[in-house]
Parts: sequence; C-alpha cells; structure tokens
Amino acid sequence: GTGAFPHAHSRSAALHERARAVMPGGNTRHSVFFPPYPVYATHGRGSRIWDADGVERIDCMNNYSSLIHGHGHPAIVEAIQQQATRLTSVALPTESEIELAELLVERLDAIEQIRFCNSGTEAMLFAIKAARAYSGRPVIAKVEGAYHGSAETAAVSSQPGPSRWGPADSPASVPDAGSTPGVAADVVVLPMNDVDNGRRILRGVGSRLAAVVLDPLVKNLGFKPVTQEFLQMVREELQACGGLLVFDEVYSLRLGFHGAHATLGVQPDIIAMGKIIGGGLPIGAIGGRADIMTALFDPHAGARLGHAGTFNANPLTMAAGLAAMRAFDLGAFERLSALGDRLRKGLREALRIADVEGTVTGATSMTGFFLSGKSMSNYREIAALMGADPTIARRAEHVFHHLLNHGVYMGSYGFFVLSTAITEAEVDYIAETTLAALRTLPT
Ligand code: PMP
Repeated sequence: GTGAFPHAHSRSAALHERARAVMPGGNTRHSVFFPPYPVYATHGRGSRIWDADGVERIDCMNNYSSLIHGHGHPAIVEAIQQQATRLTSVALPTESEIELAELLVERLDAIEQIRFCNSGTEAMLFAIKAARAYSGRPVIAKVEGAYHGSAETAAVSSQPGPSRWGPADSPASVPDAGSTPGVAADVVVLPMNDVDNGRRILRGVGSRLAAVVLDPLVKNLGFKPVTQEFLQMVREELQACGGLLVFDEVYSLRLGFHGAHATLGVQPDIIAMGKIIGGGLPIGAIGGRADIMTALFDPHAGARLGHAGTFNANPLTMAAGLAAMRAFDLGAFERLSALGDRLRKGLREALRIADVEGTVTGATSMTGFFLSGKSMSNYREIAALMGADPTIARRAEHVFHHLLNHGVYMGSYGFFVLSTAITEAEVDYIAETTLAALRTLPT
C-alpha cells in the first residue's frame, strides 16, 4: 500500500510536494531525512509514532534526543494542559522557573545558578558570550567538526571540506556560509582527542583564550567520547592561561544523571543545556558557578551581559520540563541506560551474524551505528573515509529505508536515541530488523 517507502502516491510524498512550494527544499530543519521525501508525522504515543499514511513505527530519534520519555507521557501532558489553561507566557517571573532551576541546580554537579533561553543554539550563543565577557578575551577553541548549534561562533568549522581545512596542526578555522572571516578569526579548532596538536594550538593562543568549548560525546563524530587525556590537557592549558572550560551538554545531559561532566570528573565553569530539560517543548539554558553567573547576569551586581528573551522561562516549557525531569529519576536513568546497552549488544551481534564490517558506538541511551570498521577518531578521518568509500553512505541509506519499511524510525545518519517509553522487546526487535537489513545490503 501507500505505506511502503518510498511511494509516489503516499500522503507524505504529497505533503512534501506541497511543502516545497512554501519552504525551501520543503523543510525547515537540516538532516531529518533521506530523499526522496520525509515521512510526515501525525501523532505519537510512548515509544511509537504514526505517519500520514497510517504507518506505525518505533521512534528511535525522539526529536534528536529531546523526548526523554517519548511521546505523550501522562505527567507531562497533564502539566502542559494545566499550565495552558493558566498562563502560557507572561512578562513576569513565575514560580515554575524557580522549581525547574532548583531541580537542575540540585541535580547537575557543575551548576550553582542557571538562566533559561529557548534552544540549544541560544544556550551556546550565551555560553560563548559569557566566557568572553567574564574573561575579557576574544578567542574560543572548539573541536573540529563538532556541532554546537547554529549561532555564528559555534558554527565555525562545523563541516569544513578538505579543500578548506589546512594542515592538521593548524588552528585555522573556517567560517560557516554567511559568516565573515572575522568570526572565524576568533575561533581556533582542535583535532578531536589529539593531545599534542591540541596543546600546541592552545599555547599559541595563550592569554587571548576566553574558553575551550567541549561536547563530552560528539554526536556528529559518531558519538565519540572526549578522552581523559585530552580533557586533562585542556584542563592544564586552561589553568596555565586562565581561560574557562565550557561544556556543551545540550545533547550529552543524557550521558550522566548528574550531567556528563560528573561522569568525567571535571567541573566545567559554564555549561550549555537544552533538549531533555524542556520535556519536549523548546528550551535552552546556561548554568555555572555562582560567581560567574552573578557577575554576568545579575543586574544588581552590575551585569555585564544583556540577556533578554520574550519566551525565556515561559511557564509552559517550565511546567513540561519540570514534569519530565521529575519523572527522569535515577531509577529511570539506569533502566534506560541498560536498554541502551542491550541495543548496542544486539547491533554488534547483528554485525557479527551478518558478517558485515561495522562499528557500534555511544553510551547510555545514545547509540551510533556505522557501516565501516575503520578508525573514525576525528572529523577528517570520517570525512576522508566517507569520501573514499561511497558504499558506506549507500549502505547506511539501505539500512535506514529497510528499518523505515519495517516499523523503525532511526536517525538518518546512523543514530538510535531511546526514550524511557521503550521496552526490551522493542529493543530486540530493532536489533533483529537491523540484522535483516544487513542481510540484504547493496554492494
Ligand atoms: N549543541 C549540541 C551538542 C546539539 O546536539 C544541538 C542540537 N542538536 C545544539 C547544540 C543546538 O540545539 P538546538 O537544536 O536546540 O538549537
């Protein structure tokens, strides 16, 4: 029927045609689908989503990780409904923002104070401004190829092509399209987990370094964890030059109940947050040491930074976030992590049984699945590998489409991000379906 993908007469294909007239490419977000069209969602419940052609699937994306409890969690729905009848947004503070702030400050090791905004992009924008304003210095160091949202500085060297990336030990960075060379001039890039080159580059910046920005588990480098050696090097160099450590935990809050930083045993000075803390509604936040947060944002202490926002801490998001984070207690975190382990084990087993070369990465509820067994330790290696071997992308597309046609919606670039709504039986089904996909791989 029209539920098979792709199908010229499906409702999703028709909706995409209609969308293309009014939205460039028919879409408002990047990287959400493989051509020819995305399936259009109509509703979701728990771990399942339904599309416009009535097809039900297990949702393994959970809106790029933000839906920690899947769809329609009763406590979150109830909180949103109740709040919607009282206040959705208002130019006054509400108790709800204090409650969510208290929960997060208590739960996350590195933050003593917090400010809310509306997306991870905004959180990174303000984390970077905060580091610059606090240190009085211009330069931000980031890992080459790491995605930190689409704010200008954060987007430098997100996806540089080989023609623009220069020698590996060079700190030079590449501005995103639409940004000026001036933006890139204040950003240096570090090769992922390369201690020697990283150290050399940071020493070259020295007293002009405002901050090193790190994502503890870089999703677009295949959920690659930052190594202890690299982290140690960054700590030492920051200690020597006086810059700040900024963690982008927009995604990686899923890595540890007390934050990814707690699992790594470091206290970043500032962290950017988003996704799961909003219970499925738009959110971002920055948090950190009280002295830093006060100096920067407290108007009665001579705040150095402006941080207005019509929808900052809007009560609807606060209510949803609070319900979601209350339901995501330590027990829920541990159960979900075990389900992630089960999935990784099942996927490795599938690769072994099908005798296909591949790599399974990730931790807790986040899993990466790549159809190459070659080393993928940094952005350049991954880009070179994908460029040299087009079968990797073709095979990934095959797996994505096979899963889509057998009741599983995975991330189009090999990601599975689980929610607490998923069951062991569903995890096993995902692994079995992946095995079937691997048995029919194109060459
Ligand atoms: N940082 C990281 C590590 C992210 O994964 C994302 C979103 N995928 C962002 C920042 C940006 O967050 P948002 O999409 O909410 O703007």
